[in-house]
Amino acid sequence: MSNERLTVVGGGLVGSAIAYGAARRGISVRVLDQGDTAFRASRGNFGLIWVSSKGGGMMRYARWTRDAARLWPELHEELLALTGVDTGLQQTGGFWLGFSEKEVQARAELLEKIDKGAGGIPYRMMEPAELRQYLPGLGPAVVGGSFGAHDGQVNPLMLLRALHAGLKKRGAEIISGVDVVDVRHQADSGQFSILSRDGQRWSSDRLVLAAGLGIPALAEKVGLYAPVITTRGQVLITERLKPFLHYPTNKARQTREGSVQIGSTSEDVGFDDRTTTDKIEWLAHRAVATFPALKAARLVRAWGALRPLTLDGYPIYQRSESCPGAFVAICHSGVTLAAAHAFVIGPWMAGLTQPPPDFEVFRSDRFLDPNASFSHDH
Ligand SMILES: Cc1cc2nc3c(=O)[nH]c(=O)nc-3n(C[C@H](O)[C@H](O)[C@H](O)COP(=O)(O)OP(=O)(O)OC[C@H]3O[C@@H](n4cnc5c(N)ncnc54)[C@H](O)[C@@H]3O)c2cc1C
Repeated sequence: MSNERLTVVGGGLVGSAIAYGAARRGISVRVLDQGDTAFRASRGNFGLIWVSSKGGGMMRYARWTRDAARLWPELHEELLALTGVDTGLQQTGGFWLGFSEKEVQARAELLEKIDKGAGGIPYRMMEPAELRQYLPGLGPAVVGGSFGAHDGQVNPLMLLRALHAGLKKRGAEIISGVDVVDVRHQADSGQFSILSRDGQRWSSDRLVLAAGLGIPALAEKVGLYAPVITTRGQVLITERLKPFLHYPTNKARQTREGSVQIGSTSEDVGFDDRTTTDKIEWLAHRAVATFPALKAARLVRAWGALRPLTLDGYPIYQRSESCPGAFVAICHSGVTLAAAHAFVIGPWMAGLTQPPPDFEVFRSDRFLDPNASFSHDH
């Protein structure tokens, strides 16, 4: 049991998973979170564990995503046994569905490249007739698709609840309603001093910044460069329907409770998390084209949420050189990567283990090249 204190700023899926991973290894953990006023992707996402197509431009990320998905059953079982909270894990594979020959062809080429480059990410391209064996009710607009064996889905709200309950069971402290405005490293003591807007102060031996869109302002105070951008995702929810969709797809998934979650958009609109009628209409049309039976379903809810993203869409996991003990963690897929954050990143950032091999690729230095251009659209 270590007496070191680790403070994690950000109690979303990324911060909570990392904090949980440290707490389960005996570290004394504190999580500081803004609470209900914050932008929180962790409470507005699509709930997919998605390996297929991840990492086309960075094979280390493809392998990281693959390995994270493999760890998911262990996280699910552990949280269930510890807290009684069921994340709703269903990891029987998932389908990507395409509307044009061109996009299906592009998909096949991408999946081949990833499987060859990263290894162990099997996929299968399917014609509509074969797809219908798994997804009865598929509409004629779907001209092809792919199946990824590692893909799956969870209830992301239950995942967050399970992580928070697990943190408490492991003796961690979660303090919400706290807007952290300053973090300082005291070189003489090696301690971090953390200040909230309402004047509360905490000190800590180690610090993880996992505050999503709140990261950049804090990171620079501990010598870390962490450019973060955002895209808005809008999502629709139908009334509860009889089970008909037995696998998650990139366009719709049916929850255990029966509602169908339809998603999601990707819009560059800054810090605007509202829903808009044009995008709701677009999502609804696309869902009905995919599964025509949805035409009769009533929509009961829609929301928008902001994704914290890096410039190239791949994560930043980095320790500070100038302020030892400070780290930053930001990623595009906090659900998919949750188990790796808990079992691998948490112990590393808590000082218990070395970083995984070849992890330098996730440093933010890659954004400093003035000649480089980036796209997060993948
Ligand atoms: C529509 C949509 C669909 C998505 N679908 C998927 C999917 O299917 N699968 C998947 O893997 N991922 C998906 N994602 C992405 C996923 O939701 C995010 O990767 C993940 O939630 C990011 O978690 P986070 O903890 O980094 O950020 P957030 O959830 O945004 O949490 C950040 C936390 O930091 C806190 N905070 C911020 N600033 C401060 C501060 N100054 N002081 C204290 N606390 C602070 C906030 O209170 C907040 O709780 C989706 C996202 C969206 C929006």
